[in-house]
Amino acid sequence: MNSPSGRGRGHVAAAIVIILAAIGLLVLVLSLPGSRVGVAVAAIIAAAMLGIRQAFNHARLRRLRQMAGAFSDGDLSARADIAGVDSIARLAGDLNALGDRLVAAGAALEAQRRLLDGALGSLAEGVACIDDLDRVIYANPAWRHLTSAGAEASGAAFYEHLAAAALSAAVAKVRGSGRADEVEFEHRRRRLRATVSRATPDALVIVLHDLTELKRLEGARREFVAAVSHELKTPLTAVAGFAETLLDGALDGDPAVARGFVEKIARHADRLTILVRDVLTLSRLEQGSWEVKPEPIDLVGIGRAVAEEHQPAADDRQVRIVLDAPGSLDAVSDRELLQQLLGNLVSNAVRYNRQPGSVTISLGGDGDRLRLRVADTGIGIPPEHRERIFERFFRVDAHRSRASGGTGLGLAIVKQLVDALQGTISLESGPGGTTFTVECPRIDPRAARN
Ligand code: ADP
Repeated sequence: MNSPSGRGRGHVAAAIVIILAAIGLLVLVLSLPGSRVGVAVAAIIAAAMLGIRQAFNHARLRRLRQMAGAFSDGDLSARADIAGVDSIARLAGDLNALGDRLVAAGAALEAQRRLLDGALGSLAEGVACIDDLDRVIYANPAWRHLTSAGAEASGAAFYEHLAAAALSAAVAKVRGSGRADEVEFEHRRRRLRATVSRATPDALVIVLHDLTELKRLEGARREFVAAVSHELKTPLTAVAGFAETLLDGALDGDPAVARGFVEKIARHADRLTILVRDVLTLSRLEQGSWEVKPEPIDLVGIGRAVAEEHQPAADDRQVRIVLDAPGSLDAVSDRELLQQLLGNLVSNAVRYNRQPGSVTISLGGDGDRLRLRVADTGIGIPPEHRERIFERFFRVDAHRSRASGGTGLGLAIVKQLVDALQGTISLESGPGGTTFTVECPRIDPRAARN
């Protein structure tokens, strides 16, 4: 723009033209009679000065024009170096100042955009502003992710990446009424809720909430409630039925028969108690309201207590419980969680065993990990069911599970307990039996914080 060579070429060309014109005029003047020569020379000098000035101004104006062109092409760094006090020099000064102001305004705008990105960038909700032609003028990262538009979101019409009739209708409605509107729709297998409102007279803002996970949880909760109700129904119906039979006369009949009914009522009541206990345990664990309390423990002591607790049930089924562990195994963990976890695994290992059979509880650990292993000589879990056995109320054989006092929630609780202990669980199973292996930190990371 201010290149000295460009300016130099312009001046040289103007000077050559002027010199040639002056030579021509000099020849003309010398041919005039003597009395007129003085006047003619003065006129020539005046004309030459005027010409030089015009050529000079022309070059300066051309520089200003180039600068204005650069501005309109987006190059705000162009400046004109024009000295003087005349109006062209003043115009150059004004244009230079305009350039400086545009650069400053651009930087301020960029800073604002970065601030907006920073503020809206971490939101889980997708946020976009659209202009009066439905083009996206701003989209935060969540919007780009939820609509799968990526970097192409800006500049495109919103419906190119988010085609939903309900949303387009809401946008039109808000434009018409000025009042905010809310709609729900499916997009790429996601359930979205969009809130549309006016941001400025021309621009609308759309906020997208991803409801997919919420709906999934709602569905899972509904299914769970239905399953629990179903599980409760059988023992409740039995209790009500036997009580009614007793009241209808059995109570006054043969005492042995009446006792049989009462025993059945007691058995079903026990079943109800166990079911309700498991449901409460599971919901406490799932809601995260089970406070993990790490304390110094001896894992072998816990293993011994669990083995003793389940020995009577094991004896009934001719199952031997063996504890394979060192003399003691110190750890800092939640005693109750570990006891329940081991208890559920041992209970299953006893109930799904063969007669006679055995259950081996192996406890060990290396360095910073604890390892709990429960191996049985039981019926095994067919490969096609192994993925699902940690689901709530999933049973390979529902009849056997119920008959042995199972609620269908034991392994779902185990899974939650393992998560609460920040551990992992794996299983191996075959015709010779099943082995569950749990690993978790030997010193619970939360212990240091308490
Ligand atoms: P349940 O109360 O029915 O035992 P669980 O959640 O504890 O419920 O277990 C789910 C299902 O997994 C059981 O019904 C059973 O079919 C199977 N299962 C669990 N543990 C074992 C095991 N050690 N051997 C064979 N099958 C098992």
